[in-house]
Amino acid sequence: MVISEKIHCLIIGSGPAGYTAAIYASRAGLKPVMYQGLQPGGQLTITTEVENYPGYPEGVMGPQMMKDFEAQAQRMGADIRWGMATKVDLSSRPFKIEIDEEKWVEADSVIIATGASAKWLGLESEQRLNGYGVSACAVCDGFFFKDKEVAIVGAGDTAAEEALYLSKLCTKVHMLVRRDEMRASKVMQQRVLSTPNIQIYWNSETAEILGDKKVSGLRIRDTQTGETKDIELSAFFVAIGHTPNSGIFKGFIDMDEEGYINTIPGTSKTNIEGVFACGDVQDKMYRQAVTAAGSGCAAALDAERYLGALAFNAAHS
Ligand code: NDP
Repeated sequence: MVISEKIHCLIIGSGPAGYTAAIYASRAGLKPVMYQGLQPGGQLTITTEVENYPGYPEGVMGPQMMKDFEAQAQRMGADIRWGMATKVDLSSRPFKIEIDEEKWVEADSVIIATGASAKWLGLESEQRLNGYGVSACAVCDGFFFKDKEVAIVGAGDTAAEEALYLSKLCTKVHMLVRRDEMRASKVMQQRVLSTPNIQIYWNSETAEILGDKKVSGLRIRDTQTGETKDIELSAFFVAIGHTPNSGIFKGFIDMDEEGYINTIPGTSKTNIEGVFACGDVQDKMYRQAVTAAGSGCAAALDAERYLGALAFNAAHS
């Protein structure tokens, strides 16, 4: 293995967590290098308007917000690069990271901010109308459909929570459950079932999302009979789970059974000293830009302390 570069603080991923880590790490003099990953800017680049990020009183478009984050990180001196980490060896220090399957770099510290990807149904109409009434985040986009009828697919805790959130904003929430029972915890199920404006469709799947330029309806298929029916509505929310982008760290970093990275509660520290995780790759609960940014800040502060101790020990050994 030929090492092409030695990096003091490597940040992998470029959503709100990664950029915030880059801002803090730059200001702390850690000379961070960021590899942006497959989707520079992360999940916010596929949303439309963001109204719940503090500091933007008029709201901001997701892609613009990520450009602002990037510009701020760059102004602080972060070295931001295209490219993705394709393999890692975290078994010894300095850590080794393969970039774009081409070259290997070494890093004294690593901040993992690779995010998570929403799972999608895989329908053509879902992809075409994404951002035009199709969304994977009710908390982000529900408000745009205030006083309208909407639908949500999924039956886990996220779907239940998002259905309840939407029920407070929208006139009616049609909830599609593919089996005859929900996976969500009993308490969440009870809340959903006792909310008058949530209508549950058991044994039902999404045949098609209807609409030309924006969502205008939904075709529901009964999985038992195959019968379909169309309903008119304005938005379709997908809440069938997320996949954390943690595959390359498997075998080195402790994760839960779904692949979310375990951090020491209240910190960004992983099981490997010098490797930190922030943002959605370690958070299946909140998944908000502002919580990701906060955890990115924590990761940079943790990395600063770790690198400070490393330098002190090297100077006194
Ligand atoms: P889950 O994996 O728990 O649930 C996904 C749901 O989507 C399941 O009901 C599944 O159906 C359904 N689904 C999957 N694929 C399809 C498809 N193609 N078509 C229709 N439905 C589909 O994901 P969540 O995001 O809900 O939760 C992830 C984790 O986070 C869980 O451990 C959850 O408990 C936790 N969480 C906890 C919260 C809380 O405590 N407040 C809030 C949010 C999440 P099926 O059941 O048939 O497989």
